Amino acid sequence: GSPSGGPAHADRQASAARFSATAPATRKFATAAEALHTVFGYDSFRGDQAAIIAQVVDGKDAVVLMPTGGGKSLCYQIPSLVREGTGIVVSPLIALMQDQVDALTAVGVRAAFLNSSQDSASRGQVERDYLAGNLDLLYVAPERLSSEATKRFLDQGTIALFAIDEAHCVSQWGHDFRPDYLALSELADRWPDVPRIALTATATDATHQEITSRLQMGDAKHFVASFDRPNIQYRIVGKSEVRKQLLSFIKTEHPDDAGIVYALSRKTVDQTAEFLRQSGLNALPYHAGLDAGLRARTQSKFLRDEGVIIVATIAFGMGIDKPDVRFVAHIDLPKSVEGYYQETGRAGRDGAPANAWLAYGLSDVVQQRRMIDESPGDMSHRRKLSAHLDAMLALCETVHCRRVNLLRYFGQTSEPCGNCDTCLEPPEAWDGTVPAQKLLSTIVRLLRERNQKFGAGHLIDILRGKETPRATQHRHTELKTWGIGADLSDQQWRGVVRQLLAQGYLATSGEYGTLILTDTAAEVLAGSRQVQLRTEPDRPARSAAGRTSSKKAAAADLSPEQATLFEALRVWRSAQSREQGVPAYIVFG
Ligand code: ADP
Ligand code: MG
Ligand code: ZN
Repeated sequence: GSPSGGPAHADRQASAARFSATAPATRKFATAAEALHTVFGYDSFRGDQAAIIAQVVDGKDAVVLMPTGGGKSLCYQIPSLVREGTGIVVSPLIALMQDQVDALTAVGVRAAFLNSSQDSASRGQVERDYLAGNLDLLYVAPERLSSEATKRFLDQGTIALFAIDEAHCVSQWGHDFRPDYLALSELADRWPDVPRIALTATATDATHQEITSRLQMGDAKHFVASFDRPNIQYRIVGKSEVRKQLLSFIKTEHPDDAGIVYALSRKTVDQTAEFLRQSGLNALPYHAGLDAGLRARTQSKFLRDEGVIIVATIAFGMGIDKPDVRFVAHIDLPKSVEGYYQETGRAGRDGAPANAWLAYGLSDVVQQRRMIDESPGDMSHRRKLSAHLDAMLALCETVHCRRVNLLRYFGQTSEPCGNCDTCLEPPEAWDGTVPAQKLLSTIVRLLRERNQKFGAGHLIDILRGKETPRATQHRHTELKTWGIGADLSDQQWRGVVRQLLAQGYLATSGEYGTLILTDTAAEVLAGSRQVQLRTEPDRPARSAAGRTSSKKAAAADLSPEQATLFEALRVWRSAQSREQGVPAYIVFG
């Protein structure tokens, strides 16, 4: 943790003084409990901490999956204070190392780091301290450990243990892969007698298995904590005017609280921070494009002052230990459930109620699908991104408990929580088959009759029969499906399109995000598959009258059309069979 975090801070300072005063020649502790009380000033271990620490003190390996804020650091810091020698900690972020070392030094632990940010004088000092046995903990960047020189250097001292923090970075399947972590597989061969502990807050089965095999942790004991954070209330709303929605969320529920707002682009971060400031909130932007000094000042304001809101890209947050963050808001769709979970996990570390609030909309889905299509890297890389996005969308679109969905993603089962938006206000599911058919058949017709493809906005205008210059120019009014979707509002249609995209009936193609059909769309068109949609939580539910008229309109509109529809379908299917080698996304023309 950081020196400013937590109520135990003053205690820890006091114990630091005690620790220094009583420091004997050997500064090691006889027991883990003694180190916990004396150095960190805590009364007792949390969760699996005691068992994990015992395992490592005993010289054996451990794999630790524990949510953010669970207390992973102590699991390697305390064994390093009990075992002879220096605990070598591999950590991915240089800024994080500095914080950890500062916090440890403040409580009297002999800690240092080696990384590229250092000048040679301070590096030399750290190396001498290590060789003289004067370090309990040494943080190193992963790329250093792959160098033979570093390995030989480490051999000249005594290694108490290796700790691999943020171990999910070794997973190529994961959301935060770092190639440097792959070299850590050699630790087991080179130092078979040194215990290793791998720690992460990412706990999908796939990541867990990859950590175990890549780091050669086959003989390790695995400690998997519950990933539930019961005090966090999850809420996912449909995006309309996102800044206003955000402002109203903050003003009504967290007017004076500290919080983090995540956005994908630096521009959105700057604009949103500015907007919140003008609305009277104490909001500051944070992203990698800002000067390092400014970033550091922003971060310490967030930690020290009360009620500061940080608007940030995902560059912000890892390793920041502020216990009383009351909300984490996302105004853009996160790219993976792991990322979302880690980011929201920064709320409510003190155990008091906190909110995770996310707004997402059709544009998020279209934009992210396009980014995946255009992303560099091979097919398997794109498949990975796509699978991550799909899981995120499934979480957003679920009509069941968010927490159950989230925990299931991490391989854990649970009961509906009663403390998420879907539990508190169960969304209505409605039969969206007819609107789906209207949209899908419009897409098929445009292709078949005119060889045209359009994005969502354009298609919705056609369905709603909106007289725009664009409609006249493209002779949309002559289309058979012109205006057949007038029973739904623009916003409702956007919800339909978004959910069809999320459920895989539609895909996007090209730089304009034009909509195309997938394999399963055929079943919807043929009427052999029903489409379940959820009502948008952010707008009034569709009235009963509206729903009836929608069904009537459907029957009136579509029945006479069926022959044509099936003909379109047949044409489409034969087009599909011609498009050999494009199995998942069928692109026309
Ligand atoms: P993680 O790395 O799992 O996200 P940290 O190691 O940063 O979590 O710990 C989160 C917070 O919990 C820190 O403020 C830490 O000091 C505190 N903490 C950890 N273990 C205990 C404990 N046994 N008793 C009280 N506080 C603890
Ligand atoms: Mg940590
Ligand atoms: Zn729930």
